[in-house]
Amino acid sequence: MSAPRLDETHDPARRSWVESANAPDCDFPIQNLPYGVFSEGGGARRVGVAIGNMILDLTATEAQGRLGPGAPVFGEGVLNPLMARPQADWDEMRRRIAGLLDERAGARDLPMVAQGDVEMHLPAYIRGFTDFYASREHATNVGSMFRDPENALLPNWLHVPIGYNGRASTVVVSGTEITRPLGQLKAPDDEAPRLGPSERLDFEVELGALVGTGNAMGQPMTTAEAFDAIFGYVLLNDWSARDIQVWEYQPLGPFQSKAFGTTISPWVVTRAALEPFRTQPPSRVKPLLPYLSEAGPNNFDIVIEGDLAPDGCAPRTILRTNARWLYYSAAQQLAHHSLSGCAMETGDLLGSGTISGAEQDSWGSLLELTWNGRDPVQVEGGTRTFLQDGDTVTLRGWCQRRYRVGFGACAGTIRPAPEWRK
Ligand code: CA
Repeated sequence: MSAPRLDETHDPARRSWVESANAPDCDFPIQNLPYGVFSEGGGARRVGVAIGNMILDLTATEAQGRLGPGAPVFGEGVLNPLMARPQADWDEMRRRIAGLLDERAGARDLPMVAQGDVEMHLPAYIRGFTDFYASREHATNVGSMFRDPENALLPNWLHVPIGYNGRASTVVVSGTEITRPLGQLKAPDDEAPRLGPSERLDFEVELGALVGTGNAMGQPMTTAEAFDAIFGYVLLNDWSARDIQVWEYQPLGPFQSKAFGTTISPWVVTRAALEPFRTQPPSRVKPLLPYLSEAGPNNFDIVIEGDLAPDGCAPRTILRTNARWLYYSAAQQLAHHSLSGCAMETGDLLGSGTISGAEQDSWGSLLELTWNGRDPVQVEGGTRTFLQDGDTVTLRGWCQRRYRVGFGACAGTIRPAPEWRK
């Protein structure tokens, strides 16, 4: 689609009868309506939509027959059944939910729960996880550090959305603890590798795209189809063990250095909610092949901040970046992923790659912020080059105009590595 598609669900004047949703800096106003999965007191998982500091229980609302006609989609307590429905159904569901929560709605006896009273879970069954490398500034920084500052970008980078197939099994929801990985470590001067806990544990600030509509094997998607096929977006932290990575990554790319954990935020902000925030990508250094051309602005103006808190200390914001600087959009990545005929499926997750901007405080990893450990960053009560046990990393993201479309938090705390058992 060439231009943002706006309807009454984007009206900035619209207000909800849930008063907390109407504050200008609330992440979850009636124009957002992100989906998540929650439980109360160890009970069954239910689908909900965030509104202000509350959740509308969609599983219960649907069971009461109040979401209108159509196949039930929320009974399984996971988003995949809705994501697998035709795209027109996503828009219709958004309109219905907005109608129920609008301040002009008659009935307010809906099943609501406070966000503070629930446990959040993975919003979708993640079918596959692919991680890309779409920030030119990030790729340039890494290439400068480990190869050659004069030729930091590899020759393919300006033509191909670079990616690798990651692990879906260790994609976890915000709040899940991350265990420091064991791995093979080898400093440049070491004669042989040794086994040990990673000593260069890092985070990566990314945007995650969740595929709703797939493609048949052998049938590539266009970028326009791919843009529409994405159900929604989450914040994503691609935890990375730099010392394991630098030893293992040639010639096939990252493996164990990325496989031990990937954290996503619990609320899926729909593509529909992000329509008003579509923006042009950075200008092209080299022309892209036609299959990667885009008819309209497919990037999003999303501010993302990263906080770091040592164990028992207050968090300090150590970076502020923006998803608009990504050189390749999620739609381009998805189109490229399907180009070979690779089948993409409902619940596939695409990571954007670390999001870094031009300025140092917009770099999306400790590797860059500390320039591979050379320049420690200040945190409460000390400094950091890489993550220590007990450290908590929290990402927060939002789009802001007259109202805010927020993602909530994407947080994880580092636990010590396990003892190796012989
Ligand atoms: Ca990554």
